[in-house]
Amino acid sequence: MRKNLLRLLPAERSAVFRRFIYGCLAAAVFTSCAPKTGGQGAARRVLENQGQRDMAMAILWQQHSGEYAALCYQAFNAGRAYVQEAEAGVKYAVIFDIDETVLDNSPYDAYLIYENAAFDEKSWEEWCNAESAEAVPGALEFCAFLVKNDIEIFYISNRPESVLVSTMNNLNMLGFPNARAGRVLLKTDTSDKTPRVKSVREAGYTILISAGDNLDDFDSSIRKYNNAARRDWAAENAETFGQHRLILPNPVYGTFESVFIENYHSKSHAERAVARLNLLKSWK
Ligand SMILES: [Mg+2]
Repeated sequence: MRKNLLRLLPAERSAVFRRFIYGCLAAAVFTSCAPKTGGQGAARRVLENQGQRDMAMAILWQQHSGEYAALCYQAFNAGRAYVQEAEAGVKYAVIFDIDETVLDNSPYDAYLIYENAAFDEKSWEEWCNAESAEAVPGALEFCAFLVKNDIEIFYISNRPESVLVSTMNNLNMLGFPNARAGRVLLKTDTSDKTPRVKSVREAGYTILISAGDNLDDFDSSIRKYNNAARRDWAAENAETFGQHRLILPNPVYGTFESVFIENYHSKSHAERAVARLNLLKSWK
């Protein structure tokens, strides 16, 4: 039976109204039922702005909240405790991802918002070559601790090899150890990190810890998983986090977003915004 809108509680009316608005916006963007002039463009602008708002809040949290910094410290503190419990006399290595694991690229993300632009390789390389990224909270101190404990450090990242020198410069300027060729392994022919991790093992190292902001940093085979499968993978490996896997917070970007819907990144800003809104789990 159809509910009488006037008989709903204010919160229920608000939920119904919200769904109605999303439905209208989506319809205006995607169907020919929308007004031929003005309406479609206006709806699309609203949704594009929604995308900016989604990203802006995530960046603001990364750049300004004490909670973001505290989570980073928590990850590296756990790593420190894990190292202290490790068996002595083993040739250990720790593998770090770079972006949002040891380097903070949030100024690049903020730039994308101000420019109303999407990520692209040209602007990303320009940012990398500016060598302006700051360190993720606690990363430098954790690396210094590893050096003190004679543990080798490798950086394995999917930054393109064209920015190898600038990446090493940026890391060195901040004081990160081992930021040199052979220890900084960027993407050449594949974004699958497995062969690069294997090369570390083949050099005789036991990988004590892997640190990253994306589950793919730990296991490349899950790159194509949807988010339900990624959560299952996290649950199956729950005991490894804070042990030999350190996960850093990154609310701004990652595979979690790419797999919201099929071909997500080939969709328009407005289509992505609708997809995100449709995925929200609401209590009513
Ligand atoms: Mg990363």
